[in-house]
Amino acid sequence: MKRRKFAIFSSLFFLLNIGSLDNSKKIEEMIDKQFSKLKYVKYNNTKYLNGYKLGKYPKNSPWYLKTPSFLIEVNKENRNLKIGRFKLDDFTQHLPKRYPKYLALEKKLIIKLEMLIEDLERNGFNVNEFEIMSGFRGPWYNKKVGGAKYSTHMYGLAVDILVGDVNRDGKKDIEDAKIVYKFLDKIDKTKKELVGGAAIYEETKFHEEFIHMDVRGYYARWGKFAKKD
Ligand SMILES: [Zn+2]
Repeated sequence: MKRRKFAIFSSLFFLLNIGSLDNSKKIEEMIDKQFSKLKYVKYNNTKYLNGYKLGKYPKNSPWYLKTPSFLIEVNKENRNLKIGRFKLDDFTQHLPKRYPKYLALEKKLIIKLEMLIEDLERNGFNVNEFEIMSGFRGPWYNKKVGGAKYSTHMYGLAVDILVGDVNRDGKKDIEDAKIVYKFLDKIDKTKKELVGGAAIYEETKFHEEFIHMDVRGYYARWGKFAKKD
């Protein structure tokens, strides 16, 4: 009798687990813990913060963007702290190369990124080649690289990612990007709190193809792949 009860109980538990396949609670807890170790410094929209060049944030930004009033400090001691499955330093702007650096980085962006990666992994795709190509960009750096005036990268809401050979066909190409793009759509359509923009940028002579994803608070798609087949 006891054994039978246990069997019923464990199969119920199994069913419950299937129901929550997306693991989002576990991911949130992990990322909460990682973010609790970060050092935040007050920022008053000045061109420099402790000698680190950021530039000034533009006025009259759209409703979903807010000039950060605190930035995360990255120094030689904490630059390798884990953020999702990446390192804190992976999300900083590429220039200037010095420490301390400062960046804006929203927790929900990292939750979305980790959810995306885990979902792909669970479905048998290769996620070991994911790389952060560009995370935070201060206004000065954003201008330098030709980013949009109100780029979500300046607000810690966006990452550009290189995805590698997701479908394991021995090539890194647009097919890999399309798979990731589709999975992002799934998140945007089921997780209201993580909704945002996504776009595939095709390869040029300056860069490989990459995917932009953000958590701007509303659904946005642009570029060639935004159209439905
Ligand atoms: Zn981007």
